[in-house]
Amino acid sequence: MKVAIVGAGLAGLACALELEKLGVQPVVFEQRHRLGSPFPFAAMLLDFIFHPVKDQLQELRNQYHINLKPIGEIRLLRLQGPRTSYNVRGHLGYILLRGQNQESIENQLASGLKTPVRFVSPVAPKDLLKDFDYIVVADGSKKYAQELGIWQSTYRAWVRGANITGKFNPREVRFWFNTGYAKSGFACMVPLGIDRAVLTLSVPQIDHQELDKYWQDFIKQEKIHADQVLKWETRSESGLVFPHRIGNTFLAGNSGGFVSGWLGFGVFSCLISGVETARAIALGQNYEKRVSFLQQIMERQARCRMFWNTLNNHNLDNIITLLGNPITSPLWHGNPNVTKLADHLIAFWLKNSCHLN
Ligand SMILES: Cc1cc2nc3c(=O)[nH]c(=O)nc-3n(C[C@H](O)[C@H](O)[C@H](O)COP(=O)(O)OP(=O)(O)OC[C@H]3O[C@@H](n4cnc5c(N)ncnc54)[C@H](O)[C@@H]3O)c2cc1C
Repeated sequence: MKVAIVGAGLAGLACALELEKLGVQPVVFEQRHRLGSPFPFAAMLLDFIFHPVKDQLQELRNQYHINLKPIGEIRLLRLQGPRTSYNVRGHLGYILLRGQNQESIENQLASGLKTPVRFVSPVAPKDLLKDFDYIVVADGSKKYAQELGIWQSTYRAWVRGANITGKFNPREVRFWFNTGYAKSGFACMVPLGIDRAVLTLSVPQIDHQELDKYWQDFIKQEKIHADQVLKWETRSESGLVFPHRIGNTFLAGNSGGFVSGWLGFGVFSCLISGVETARAIALGQNYEKRVSFLQQIMERQARCRMFWNTLNNHNLDNIITLLGNPITSPLWHGNPNVTKLADHLIAFWLKNSCHLN
């Protein structure tokens, strides 16, 4: 069986690892000259994003044979609105490293892989069809799904990041929401240890040249005084995709619409989509059926995004105040009833705001 994987990112590597376990050696094409993005950044696995899954690392280990080592645990989440703030405490998730460092998720995955990655090999999925029995599109972009007309964009933003130095609580993550400098996006700070952190601002629906102004406003308004040792920028785009299999071509990771349209989180879902692609190819399992729970989560997150797009600063403050209420606080720790209720309320809000339009 000849299988080509386009992209040695999270979904591509997870797929290659699982194929090897199932006795298939794929060919992995990667356009870069090494694994991981050139700039190091942090990835959060936040428990509340992927309800009903409570502990994403445990789930990856138990159900998908992916054993990742985090650099830390998140025990304090500070949510900062324009005028209000709220602290969530308890076990809330994990922090992992991304990029080219040995501890990055990419390198942790690759350390278990026997198949050599073909670096500096940018390929187009349709060019591979004649030479391979199966193609896995895991290039992290919408390109192929858009060509097929099955991509529905949910979140498009420019992201500015900076690696900063100072003193940090290694278990504390901060989020800022303010339409003044983030529009309907957000800013966050994730520690990489006690003396380093990654600061990120994600602003949707702006041109690249506007990003610096939003960044300066954020730094000024939130009085960030830390030294910015490395700055980087990237484009972030997520969308919904259906179907995820076209003939013998499978779409995994962000290419398959497995990144949340609300906050752009997708480590967990992209890894799973990679593993499920491998199982569908090697074991003949039904990919669509196996990823349907992820699709439901992605649809829920897309509704959250639509809802979030309608909010002004006053609404953001109200939401943060509401989240501080003891009735809604189980949301952070995976209570399915509270999640369901929140989803119903969002659907109701969207229906009625559409009526008004
Ligand atoms: C700044 C930032 C912060 C994030 N933070 C979080 C977070 O905290 N938590 C979270 O869950 N998610 C987070 N995400 C999202 C997460 O990074 C993505 O969901 C995930 O990386 C997508 O995995 P993927 O395998 O689809 O794509 P990628 O990991 O991007 O891999 C795609 C690979 O394909 C390669 N490639 C592209 N085109 C070709 C081609 N034509 N031929 C060969 N190779 C190709 C690329 O070079 C790349 O190596 C963040 C994303 C960004 C940008």
